[in-house]
Amino acid sequence: RELSFAHVPTQILRIHILIVTVGLTVDPTELLRLGVDGQLSVDPADVETASSDFGLMTRAKPLAVLHPASAEDVARLIRAAYGSAPGLTVSARGHGHSINGQAQATNGVVIKMSSSRERTAADQTSAAAAAARPQVSEREMYVDVWGGDLWIDVLKATLEHGLAPKSWTDYLYLTVGGTLSNAGISGQTFNHGPQIANVQELDVVTGKGELLTCSEEKNSELFHAVLGGLGQFGIITRARIALEPAPQRVRWIRVLYSNFSSFTKDQEFLISLHGLPASQRFDYVEGFVIVDEGLINNWRSSFFSPRNPVKLSSINADGGVLYCLEITKNYDESTAETIDQEVEGLLKKLDFIPTSVFTTDLPYVDFLDRVHKAELKLRSKGLWDVPHPWFNLFVPKSRISDFDEGVFKSILGNKTSGPILIYPMNKDKWDQRSSAVTPDEDVFYLVALLRSALDTADETQSLEYLMHQNRQILRFCAAAGIKAKQYLPHYTTQQEWVDHFGDKWAQFHKRKMEFDPRHILATGQRIFTPSF
Ligand code: FAD
Repeated sequence: RELSFAHVPTQILRIHILIVTVGLTVDPTELLRLGVDGQLSVDPADVETASSDFGLMTRAKPLAVLHPASAEDVARLIRAAYGSAPGLTVSARGHGHSINGQAQATNGVVIKMSSSRERTAADQTSAAAAAARPQVSEREMYVDVWGGDLWIDVLKATLEHGLAPKSWTDYLYLTVGGTLSNAGISGQTFNHGPQIANVQELDVVTGKGELLTCSEEKNSELFHAVLGGLGQFGIITRARIALEPAPQRVRWIRVLYSNFSSFTKDQEFLISLHGLPASQRFDYVEGFVIVDEGLINNWRSSFFSPRNPVKLSSINADGGVLYCLEITKNYDESTAETIDQEVEGLLKKLDFIPTSVFTTDLPYVDFLDRVHKAELKLRSKGLWDVPHPWFNLFVPKSRISDFDEGVFKSILGNKTSGPILIYPMNKDKWDQRSSAVTPDEDVFYLVALLRSALDTADETQSLEYLMHQNRQILRFCAAAGIKAKQYLPHYTTQQEWVDHFGDKWAQFHKRKMEFDPRHILATGQRIFTPSF
């Protein structure tokens, strides 16, 4: 081996030795510690963490876990996999909040990108070092962050400069690289586009082990490929995110509808106001579906109670289903006197149930970090680390009422086991050059079934039951000709992926051949089979 790899630098050779010896009697850890500045770990605790994810439905054991000290460490590992260690696959793991094993690597190496403040001992010397604090440019209004930084840490760092990113996810304990590999959506997307539309530049290690800077102007094919690219083309080690002045406070409002078409008409009206001055529109538009009263006690709806109890049974729901519009307006203390007026002016144009207005007011950071509070509550009850058969679809606007009839009012019955989000977005805020896939209409809805499976006597809460419902929904869409696209997609055959990408498949495939020709990266997505 030494002879046949005589031309390979020593560090890479050492990694190669690990690969061929893991599972045999030699402990490779020592060798590998020398090979990278960070740490290549075969510690059972590291391997165990990397074998699982938030979905708790799929397990795949990697050979080892790399805690990188730098982008160069990431490149070293991938160069080895590309050149001298055929057979090795590599997956970046952000915060492991995927549902279906997307960040796993069977018999490969998982790179632990996340540099959470809750670090393990290994992190202290590795990812933490790579994750130098986010660098803010106040003048040019951007922040440079490590690909494994959590959005909550990006927010805290930018707030020190009075600035904040513009586009968010509902939950901030996700990594920049993880959400940019999908899209990153929330109630701001109608106005600012998804997170992938708010990136100015990236550093990426491709599947050939090259560390490249890319942007609209430089290596633009790689830039667009990686955004929404499901980890297929490279590992994001740095991202430059656009910023805006951070608002100080948020007025957060929920109103109810019993009629689906009034609800969607109002949501669509509100997102049509994008681009208007902030005083004439809301900053965030989301919504959710209430198919049973149980949801009122749910983790996302604590807002209704106890100060604002609402008796759902007193409202005459359309087919037993209620819809809640959730909107916010950002403001600063200096403009506080006009906020009531602006909110009133907008609410007057909407057609919700007049007695159903629930309002609260809170600091901007508390609003953005709202789901974390719910997480802590669920954790304390042992309800966080349970299987999550989450299922997200983009549904074209023209068919959303058919979806309502067929899914919310039919397939789901009157039990939900978790929040069901629904909100529309404007397609022209999505850059079609990115790898992300959306339906072929100007406006489409996110429908997110964020359900938890519980091991109780009630079979409607079981994992099997909920997964069966997800499949039923897909079958319903196919039979009704609803051209929905999965968000955070999960398929098991390449033909399904070809169908998912549709017109974009040829380009996706070509980009794969160019940037990861050996199909080393993110095999947990199950799009391409490694070719060695
Ligand atoms: P991981 O699950 O670790 O990785 C996801 C994929 O990206 C994998 O294929 C992995 O290999 C790849 N990857 C990870 N890091 C990198 C990198 N640096 N470079 C290249 N590829 C990489 N999504 C939304 O859009 N909006 C939401 O509001 C939202 N809310 C959520 C709330 C919760 C509680 C959870 C669990 C998920 C939510 N998501 C949301 C989904 C989330 O955006 C995705 O699951 C995302 O992939 C999670 O990020 P992560 O850092 O945990 O990535």
